[in-house]
Amino acid sequence: MEGLPLYMKYQIPIEGYERFWEGLKKGEIVATRCKRCGNEYFPPRVNCTCGSSDMEWFEVKREGIVQTFSEVFSKPQGFEDFSYIVGIVNVGNLNLMCWLVGKPRVGSRVMLRTDGTRVIGDVVD
Ligand SMILES: [Zn+2]
Repeated sequence: MEGLPLYMKYQIPIEGYERFWEGLKKGEIVATRCKRCGNEYFPPRVNCTCGSSDMEWFEVKREGIVQTFSEVFSKPQGFEDFSYIVGIVNVGNLNLMCWLVGKPRVGSRVMLRTDGTRVIGDVVD
C-alpha cells in the first residue's frame, strides 16, 4: 500500500477573506479580532461566536511557542522529497496551525513567515 494523500489547507471562503489571502502573498500573517468581545481568530473569521460581525484585521506576532506537532511520515503526492511537520503554535491569544521547519519540541520558539500561500514556522530553539 502506498498510502493516502494528505493535504493541509486552510478552509477559508474567499469572499470577505481577501485580506488574509493577499496578506499571505505579501508575507503578512493576519487574523481577525471581534471589536465587541475581543475574541481573536486564526484562521480568520468575519463573524464572531458572540454574534457580532464588527471585526477588525490585525497582524499576528511573528514569535510563537510550539504547543504540539506531528511529523508526517506517509508523505502525500508531491511532498515525497522533504520532511513535513505540522504544528500548533501559540502566539498571544491564538493557537495557529502551520508547517514547522527544523527540529521542534513542545515549548520550542518559532519565528513565523509565509511562503505566499501558507504559514511556516522556523524552529529557533
Ligand atoms: Zn465577539
